[in-house]
Formats: sequence, C-alpha cells, structure tokens
Amino acid sequence: MSAWSWGLTELRQGVDRVEHSYRVLVALNTAQGHLRSAESAARGYRRTGAPALYAELRELVPDVREQAAQLARLTTDNPPQNQRVLQWQELIEYRLQELTALADGETGGASADAALAGDVRAGTTARTSEAATRILEVEEELLLERRAIIDERTGRLTGFVVLGIVLPLVVLTLLLQGLLRENRRSRRLEREARNAALEMEASLVERDRVTEQHRLLGSYTGLLQSCQTLPEAFELTTSLLQHLLPHAGGHCYALDASRNLAEVVATFGTPVAASAEVLSPDDCWALRRGQPHRTDDRHGHVTCRHIDRPTAGSGVWTLCVPLVAQGNSLGLLHASALGNDGRTDNDTALLETVGEQLSLAMVNLQLRESLRQQSLRDPLTGLFNRRYLETSLERELARCRRRGLPVSVLMLDVDHFKLFNDTHGHAAGDALLQKVAGVLASQVRQEDIACRYGGEEFTLVLPETDAAMAMARAEQVRATVAATTITHMGQQLGPATVSIGVASAPVSGNTPGELLEAADAALYRAKAGGRDRVEAA
Ligand code: GH3
Ligand code: MG
Ligand code: MG
Repeated sequence: MSAWSWGLTELRQGVDRVEHSYRVLVALNTAQGHLRSAESAARGYRRTGAPALYAELRELVPDVREQAAQLARLTTDNPPQNQRVLQWQELIEYRLQELTALADGETGGASADAALAGDVRAGTTARTSEAATRILEVEEELLLERRAIIDERTGRLTGFVVLGIVLPLVVLTLLLQGLLRENRRSRRLEREARNAALEMEASLVERDRVTEQHRLLGSYTGLLQSCQTLPEAFELTTSLLQHLLPHAGGHCYALDASRNLAEVVATFGTPVAASAEVLSPDDCWALRRGQPHRTDDRHGHVTCRHIDRPTAGSGVWTLCVPLVAQGNSLGLLHASALGNDGRTDNDTALLETVGEQLSLAMVNLQLRESLRQQSLRDPLTGLFNRRYLETSLERELARCRRRGLPVSVLMLDVDHFKLFNDTHGHAAGDALLQKVAGVLASQVRQEDIACRYGGEEFTLVLPETDAAMAMARAEQVRATVAATTITHMGQQLGPATVSIGVASAPVSGNTPGELLEAADAALYRAKAGGRDRVEAA
C-alpha cells in the first residue's frame, strides 16, 4: 500500500514539474506578446499621434514587467535557466525604456524611427527575441525530459498494480483511475505548451512581415518626395502596393479639373471586385464623405456604385481611400482582396497611410506644375511668353534639323496700335491684344507654338512647315484678324489689322536669332508696303 501511494506521489510531482514548465512557457509568451503590442502601440503613436495608442503603451509597460518578474520567480529552481531569464529581463527592460523614451520625447528623425522599427538583426528587439527563443528551447527540452520521467513512473506504478492483484479490487480501481486522470492531465498540459510555442513562432514571422512593410513605406515616402510628375508618383505608388499587398489589387483615380469625373490613372495587382474606369464622385462613398470607406463582413456591405458588389460572406473586402489634401479632393485610391488571413486591418491601415502620403505629393506636384505654367505664360493673353519661345524654338530647330525638316516662324505686329490705344484707351487696347491672341490660339495645331513676343507683337512657330505652307497660314491669320470685330465695354471698335513677316529654316537661317531677325525684316517690309499684309523673308 505504502509503495503505491509513494509511487503516486512521485508521479504527481512529475506532473507538477510539467505544469511548472508550462507556466514558464506561458509567462514567456505573454511577456513577449505584451512587448510586441507595446512596440506596435509606440509605432502607431509616432505615426498618428493618437492618445489612445499612447495610453495603451503606458498600460502595457507594467504588464510586460510583471510577466518578466513572474518568469524570473518561476525559474529560481533552475539557476542556468534563471540566468538566461535575468539577461532576457534586462533586454526587455532596456527595450521598454527605449519605447517609453521615444513615445514621450520630442526626438524624431531617422534614429528614432529606426529604433521603433527595431532593426531585426542588430537591435534590442532582435536580441530580445533571440533570448526568448533560447529560453523556450531549453524549457521545451526540460518538458520532454519531464514527460519521459512521468512515462517511466507510470509504467513502474502499473507494474505495482498488476503485482498487487491480491489487494482489494476497490483500491486497485481507484488507483488506476487516479493514474489515468493524472496522465490525461499531463498530456493536456503538454499539448497546451506546444500550442503556445507554435503561436509564438507564428507571431515572430508576422512581426518580420510588418517590419518589412514599414521599411517599404519609409523608402516610398522618400522617393515620393523626389517625384517630378504626377504619372511618376502614381507609378511609384502602384509598384509599392504591388510589393506591400501582393494579394490585393486596385486602382489610383485622379479627379479632373472640374472635379466632376475621376479616371483611372494607374492600376496594381488583380482586383477581386471590379471597379469602373471612370466614375462620378457621387458614385463613391469615400469621395462623398471625404473619409475612407471599407466593406467586409465586419464593416457592412454598403458598396460604392463604381464597384461590382461582392457576395456577402465571400470574405472579400474593398476599400476606397479619398485622396484629399488641404481640403481639396484630388482623387481616389481603391483596392479589393480576399481577407480570410486576419490581416485585413493591417492591410487597410497601410492603404490609408499610402493614400495620405500620395495626397500630399499630389498637391505639391500640382502646385509645382501650375507655378511652372505661370512662369511660361503671358498673363494678359495666356499665350506662351518670350522666354518660352526662345528655348522651344531652339529645341524645334534642332529636332527638325536632325530629321531634315523645315521650321517656319511668323512675326505679327498689330497695325497702328498706338493710335488704337490713344483713341479707345489702354483697356480697349488690351482687349484687342486678347482678341488677336484668341485668333492665334484658335488656328494653331498641336505642335505649333503661339507666343506673345512683347507689346503688340506675336510669334507663331510652325515646326515641319516650309515657307510656302507658312505663307498660306500667315495669310489665313491676317484675313481672320481683319474680319474679327472687337467689342469693348459694349462698344464695337476697330477693325484692326496685323502685318506679318514669315521666315523659314533652313532657307533664311538656322538659329533662333537668325530666323527671328529674318522674320522681323520681312515684317518691316510688310509695314513699309502699306500694312495689313504678309511678306516672306
Ligand atoms: P505700327 O503699325 O507701325 O506697328 O504702329 P504701332 O502704333 O502699332 O507701333 P508702336 O510700336 O509705335 O506702338 C506700340 C504701342 O503698343 C505702344 C505701347 O503703348 C502699346 N503697348 C505695348 N504693350 C501694351 C499692352 O500690354 N497693352 C496696351 N494696351 N498697349 C500696349
Ligand atoms: Mg510694334
Ligand atoms: Mg504695331
């Protein structure tokens, strides 16, 4: 009897040891889990400044410490393991102070972001994970050993029971029952410990993925600032999204100047739910409300009209992020994917961040483009200015020379403009200039360049046009101006006429200077010949 009860006690002790190892693993896993949550709260707080994330970080820090202290207490029975735990605890403490300091302080810049991202190979985070993995490995070995001891003791005890069949059957049955119960318990504990270890491994893989996504986002932000055109920014964005969310697909839309239509300007991946190429802002909840609109099993299925509605329960999510900056709608970022991997929240948060960055870049690029346009245009007539003429004429001459093609230049001057000004006033003179500019603008082809050369002089550059064709075009312009009526302040003025000198490369010259001079000389002859006429160089 006493041998059996001694055997059972021994078995119970073995089971307790297994349970002890399990507690160690659970404490380790919980501490690592809290630490990762604290890191992502700190990272989130730095990115968004949301107070809730700061509060979360503050709450998590003592939790991590408490779990670490518990782990230290649990391993006092095993000095080498305890030594590892103390080292790991020191790393944890150091990382916590790093996170708290980064979230509290106003320090910023690359070093802070690097510390937050946690350099996977060299940083505190990586060393903490390595230390945790080592503790885990040792504890799992212990667990196996302890499990073997239990098996051996179970076997021995079963032997006692079989030998002791002389003892009352009741005692035997009770003993066996206890034995089986304890055995089941130890197996359950072992299973739970193994699951905890698997979970920890999976979360390490997920953390590496998130770190890589943040690295990609960081480099995207840097490159975006160096983009010079909108198409370049769109291409960069879609190529980032292709890497960042390989399982998703969608489009970038840009709103036209009237803000009545949004059109696809770039596409990434293969969208799971098709979306229209051109849409009205009224068709999209995100554009209407100026905030992201998501559909999935959790957020409801109020799908925008531009998207083919996915079937409920299909696991498809769609997201529309409005591209808005400084209160102006610029376009839309739309994506859809199958979201049954539990990462949808993270994916949609990434898309929203990309949308914010892209919006900022779009305003900057649009502003830059409008400044560039202003510096090239004459404000009164909207035609190109003399500076633009000089550079573009040089470029066209070089281009046509290479291909053996002619280039012609028309030099126009309004006849008796001074008299017109003196008779009708300066404002009426401005109206006449705008009218002449309008005639020029309406008669140019896509490749022609119409400029206000200065005062009441205009220039028309006609690439790939020889002297004969240029003369015909000049005659057409002259006749149209002569037939145009000028109305100013409700009064009909004029008619006005123009004189035009025509010169062509390579016949009359090969440089902008030579060509303009030749056209000017021809213009002078047109004036001398009685005005309202065209003269060739
Ligand atoms: P011609 O037939 O020989 O070309 O005679 P013209 O009077 O047109 O020639 P002139 O060069 O003597 O006069 C040009 C006038 O154009 C003088 C100037 O006051 C006027 N002018 C120059 N720039 C502007 C402008 O932006 N607006 C207005 N209203 N007048 C301008
Ligand atoms: Mg003049
Ligand atoms: Mg004149």
